[in-house]
Amino acid sequence: MRRDEIAAGLAEVDARITEACHAVGRDRGEVTLIAVTKTRPAEDVRILAELGVCDVGENRDQEAAPKARELAGIPLTWHFVGQLQTNKVRSVVGYADVIQSVDRLRLVEAISREAVRQGRRVGCLLQVALDDDPGRGGARAADLLALADEVALADGLWLGGVMAVAPLGEDPAAAFARLRELATRVQEQHPRATMVSAGMSGDLAQAIAYGATHVRVGTALLGRRKSFVR
Ligand SMILES: *Cc1c(COP(=O)(O)O)cnc(C)c1O
Repeated sequence: MRRDEIAAGLAEVDARITEACHAVGRDRGEVTLIAVTKTRPAEDVRILAELGVCDVGENRDQEAAPKARELAGIPLTWHFVGQLQTNKVRSVVGYADVIQSVDRLRLVEAISREAVRQGRRVGCLLQVALDDDPGRGGARAADLLALADEVALADGLWLGGVMAVAPLGEDPAAAFARLRELATRVQEQHPRATMVSAGMSGDLAQAIAYGATHVRVGTALLGRRKSFVR
Protein backbone atom coordinates (compact mmCIF):
# COMPACT_ATOMS: atom_id res chain seq x y z
CA MET A 1 0.00 0.00 0.00
CA ARG A 2 1.19 3.49 -0.84
CA ARG A 3 0.72 4.61 2.73
CA ASP A 4 3.11 1.91 4.00
CA GLU A 5 5.72 2.82 1.39
CA ILE A 6 5.56 6.47 2.34
CA ALA A 7 5.64 5.69 6.06
CA ALA A 8 8.76 3.56 5.52
CA GLY A 9 10.43 6.32 3.48
CA LEU A 10 9.57 8.87 6.13
CA ALA A 11 10.94 6.70 8.95
CA GLU A 12 14.18 6.23 7.04
CA VAL A 13 14.61 9.92 6.22
CA ASP A 14 13.78 10.86 9.79
CA ALA A 15 16.42 8.43 11.06
CA ARG A 16 18.99 9.92 8.68
CA ILE A 17 18.20 13.43 9.87
CA THR A 18 18.41 12.37 13.53
CA GLU A 19 21.73 10.63 12.95
CA ALA A 20 23.16 13.60 11.06
CA CYS A 21 22.12 15.90 13.91
CA HIS A 22 23.66 13.72 16.57
CA ALA A 23 26.87 13.34 14.58
CA VAL A 24 27.50 17.06 14.96
CA GLY A 25 25.90 17.61 18.35
CA ARG A 26 22.75 19.31 17.09
CA ASP A 27 19.25 18.80 18.41
CA ARG A 28 16.86 16.98 16.06
CA GLY A 29 14.35 19.76 16.69
CA GLU A 30 16.59 22.25 14.90
CA VAL A 31 15.96 20.66 11.50
CA THR A 32 12.66 20.74 9.65
CA LEU A 33 11.91 18.25 6.90
CA ILE A 34 10.30 19.69 3.79
CA ALA A 35 8.78 16.91 1.69
CA VAL A 36 9.37 17.76 -1.96
CA THR A 37 6.27 16.40 -3.65
CA LYS A 38 6.81 17.52 -7.27
CA THR A 39 5.51 15.02 -9.82
CA ARG A 40 3.61 13.23 -7.03
CA PRO A 41 -0.16 13.18 -6.78
CA ALA A 42 -2.07 15.17 -4.19
CA GLU A 43 -2.90 11.87 -2.50
CA ASP A 44 0.79 11.43 -1.55
CA VAL A 45 0.74 14.84 0.05
CA ARG A 46 -2.39 13.95 1.98
CA ILE A 47 -0.72 10.78 3.28
CA LEU A 48 2.40 12.71 4.28
CA ALA A 49 0.25 15.16 6.21
CA GLU A 50 -1.52 12.29 8.00
CA LEU A 51 1.90 10.93 8.92
CA GLY A 52 2.81 14.23 10.54
CA VAL A 53 4.65 16.12 7.80
CA CYS A 54 3.79 19.83 7.98
CA ASP A 55 5.96 21.28 5.20
CA VAL A 56 5.80 20.48 1.50
CA GLY A 57 7.82 21.79 -1.42
CA GLU A 58 6.89 22.18 -5.08
CA ASN A 59 8.86 23.58 -7.99
CA ARG A 60 6.39 24.17 -10.83
CA ASP A 61 3.38 26.43 -10.54
CA GLN A 62 1.34 24.54 -13.14
CA GLU A 63 1.52 21.48 -10.94
CA ALA A 64 1.57 23.07 -7.51
CA ALA A 65 -1.41 25.40 -7.92
CA PRO A 66 -4.05 22.69 -8.47
CA LYS A 67 -2.50 20.47 -5.80
CA ALA A 68 -2.54 23.25 -3.22
CA ARG A 69 -6.12 24.05 -4.18
CA GLU A 70 -7.19 20.44 -3.77
CA LEU A 71 -5.53 20.21 -0.35
CA ALA A 72 -6.53 23.66 0.89
CA GLY A 73 -8.32 22.20 3.93
CA ILE A 74 -5.16 20.57 5.27
CA PRO A 75 -2.92 22.70 7.46
CA LEU A 76 0.35 22.59 5.52
CA THR A 77 3.12 25.07 4.91
CA TRP A 78 3.72 25.29 1.16
CA HIS A 79 7.25 26.10 0.01
CA PHE A 80 7.87 27.08 -3.59
CA VAL A 81 11.39 25.85 -4.43
CA GLY A 82 11.60 26.18 -8.22
CA GLN A 83 12.84 28.94 -10.48
CA LEU A 84 10.13 31.56 -10.59
CA GLN A 85 9.20 33.72 -13.57
CA THR A 86 7.51 37.00 -12.73
CA ASN A 87 4.45 36.06 -14.79
CA LYS A 88 3.78 33.18 -12.33
CA VAL A 89 4.08 35.30 -9.23
CA ARG A 90 0.37 36.08 -8.99
CA SER A 91 -0.52 32.41 -8.93
CA VAL A 92 2.29 31.32 -6.61
CA VAL A 93 1.54 34.02 -4.04
CA GLY A 94 -1.98 32.60 -3.91
CA TYR A 95 -0.84 29.44 -2.11
CA ALA A 96 2.86 29.64 -1.21
CA ASP A 97 3.68 30.44 2.39
CA VAL A 98 7.39 30.59 1.64
CA ILE A 99 9.13 31.26 -1.67
CA GLN A 100 12.63 29.79 -1.46
CA SER A 101 13.88 30.87 -4.87
CA VAL A 102 14.04 34.65 -4.49
CA ASP A 103 17.15 35.65 -6.40
CA ARG A 104 16.64 39.06 -8.00
CA LEU A 105 15.23 42.46 -7.27
CA ARG A 106 12.52 42.33 -9.93
CA LEU A 107 11.17 39.20 -8.31
CA VAL A 108 11.15 40.79 -4.87
CA GLU A 109 9.16 43.71 -6.27
CA ALA A 110 6.70 41.44 -8.05
CA ILE A 111 6.12 39.20 -5.02
CA SER A 112 5.70 42.20 -2.74
CA ARG A 113 3.19 43.88 -5.04
CA GLU A 114 1.16 40.68 -5.34
CA ALA A 115 1.35 39.86 -1.61
CA VAL A 116 -0.04 43.31 -0.79
CA ARG A 117 -2.77 42.95 -3.43
CA GLN A 118 -3.83 39.57 -2.05
CA GLY A 119 -3.43 40.60 1.59
CA ARG A 120 -0.86 37.90 2.27
CA ARG A 121 2.50 37.85 4.02
CA VAL A 122 4.93 35.71 2.11
CA GLY A 123 8.17 34.32 3.52
CA CYS A 124 11.16 34.75 1.25
CA LEU A 125 14.40 32.80 1.23
CA LEU A 126 17.23 34.18 -0.86
CA GLN A 127 18.49 31.52 -3.20
CA VAL A 128 22.26 31.65 -3.60
CA ALA A 129 24.18 30.28 -6.58
CA LEU A 130 26.99 28.56 -4.68
CA ASP A 131 29.03 28.21 -7.85
CA ASP A 132 28.40 31.88 -8.62
CA ASP A 133 26.73 30.81 -11.88
CA PRO A 134 23.23 32.24 -11.77
CA GLY A 135 22.27 30.28 -14.89
CA ARG A 136 20.39 27.68 -12.86
CA GLY A 137 18.84 30.22 -10.55
CA GLY A 138 20.23 31.88 -7.47
CA ALA A 139 21.83 35.21 -6.72
CA ARG A 140 25.54 35.82 -6.72
CA ALA A 141 27.04 35.91 -3.25
CA ALA A 142 28.09 39.50 -3.86
CA ASP A 143 24.47 40.56 -4.41
CA LEU A 144 23.02 38.76 -1.43
CA LEU A 145 23.11 41.43 1.27
CA ALA A 146 21.53 44.09 -0.94
CA LEU A 147 18.78 41.64 -1.85
CA ALA A 148 18.23 40.81 1.83
CA ASP A 149 17.75 44.51 2.58
CA GLU A 150 15.21 44.80 -0.24
CA VAL A 151 13.14 41.89 1.04
CA ALA A 152 13.29 43.16 4.60
CA LEU A 153 11.99 46.57 3.48
CA ALA A 154 9.32 45.30 1.10
CA ASP A 155 5.67 45.33 2.12
CA GLY A 156 3.96 41.98 2.46
CA LEU A 157 7.17 39.97 2.78
CA TRP A 158 9.22 38.54 5.62
CA LEU A 159 12.83 37.55 5.20
CA GLY A 160 13.32 33.94 6.28
CA GLY A 161 16.95 33.35 5.36
CA VAL A 162 18.83 31.61 2.58
CA MET A 163 18.48 28.59 0.33
CA ALA A 164 20.86 26.75 -1.99
CA VAL A 165 21.31 23.64 -4.07
CA ALA A 166 24.79 22.12 -3.93
CA PRO A 167 26.52 22.58 -7.30
CA LEU A 168 27.16 19.46 -9.34
CA GLY A 169 30.71 18.17 -9.39
CA GLU A 170 31.77 19.64 -6.07
CA ASP A 171 31.94 18.24 -2.55
CA PRO A 172 28.59 19.40 -1.12
CA ALA A 173 30.17 19.94 2.30
CA ALA A 174 32.45 22.64 0.88
CA ALA A 175 29.51 24.33 -0.82
CA PHE A 176 27.37 24.20 2.32
CA ALA A 177 30.25 25.65 4.33
CA ARG A 178 30.14 28.70 2.02
CA LEU A 179 26.38 28.88 2.42
CA ARG A 180 26.74 28.91 6.20
CA GLU A 181 29.11 31.83 5.99
CA LEU A 182 26.69 33.75 3.77
CA ALA A 183 23.79 32.91 6.06
CA THR A 184 25.75 34.29 9.00
CA ARG A 185 26.41 37.53 7.13
CA VAL A 186 22.72 37.93 6.32
CA GLN A 187 21.84 37.23 9.97
CA GLU A 188 24.23 39.90 11.19
CA GLN A 189 22.03 42.43 9.41
CA HIS A 190 18.73 40.58 9.82
CA PRO A 191 18.83 38.57 13.06
CA ARG A 192 15.46 36.93 12.51
CA ALA A 193 16.42 35.50 9.11
CA THR A 194 17.52 32.22 10.63
CA MET A 195 16.39 29.73 8.00
CA VAL A 196 19.05 27.84 6.06
CA SER A 197 17.40 25.59 3.46
CA ALA A 198 19.99 23.15 2.15
CA GLY A 199 20.37 19.46 1.59
CA MET A 200 18.36 17.04 -0.52
CA SER A 201 18.12 13.24 -0.61
CA GLY A 202 21.79 12.78 -1.46
CA ASP A 203 23.45 15.35 0.74
CA LEU A 204 21.22 16.09 3.71
CA ALA A 205 23.83 14.96 6.27
CA GLN A 206 26.45 17.36 4.92
CA ALA A 207 23.89 20.17 4.92
CA ILE A 208 22.96 19.47 8.53
CA ALA A 209 26.64 19.41 9.49
CA TYR A 210 26.91 22.95 8.11
CA GLY A 211 23.89 24.38 9.82
CA ALA A 212 20.86 23.60 7.63
CA THR A 213 17.61 24.30 9.44
CA HIS A 214 15.49 22.93 6.59
CA VAL A 215 16.20 19.96 4.33
CA ARG A 216 14.24 19.44 1.10
CA VAL A 217 13.76 15.77 0.42
CA GLY A 218 11.89 14.13 -2.44
CA THR A 219 13.41 10.91 -3.77
CA ALA A 220 14.43 9.40 -0.43
CA LEU A 221 10.89 9.90 0.87
CA LEU A 222 8.71 9.08 -2.09
CA GLY A 223 10.89 7.09 -4.47
CA ARG A 224 12.47 8.02 -7.74
CA ARG A 225 10.64 10.37 -10.03
CA LYS A 226 9.87 9.08 -13.51
CA SER A 227 11.38 12.07 -15.23
CA PHE A 228 14.16 14.30 -14.09
CA VAL A 229 12.52 17.48 -12.93
CA ARG A 230 14.79 19.98 -11.32
C1 LIG B 1 13.56 18.24 -6.53
C2 LIG B 1 14.17 19.18 -5.56
C3 LIG B 1 14.58 18.73 -4.29
C4 LIG B 1 14.49 17.28 -3.85
O1 LIG B 1 15.45 16.51 -4.47
P1 LIG B 1 15.63 14.95 -4.15
O2 LIG B 1 16.99 14.66 -4.64
O3 LIG B 1 14.55 14.24 -4.86
O4 LIG B 1 15.52 14.80 -2.66
C5 LIG B 1 15.12 19.67 -3.44
N1 LIG B 1 15.25 20.97 -3.78
C6 LIG B 1 14.86 21.43 -4.96
C7 LIG B 1 15.05 22.87 -5.29
C8 LIG B 1 14.32 20.55 -5.90
O5 LIG B 1 13.94 21.02 -7.11
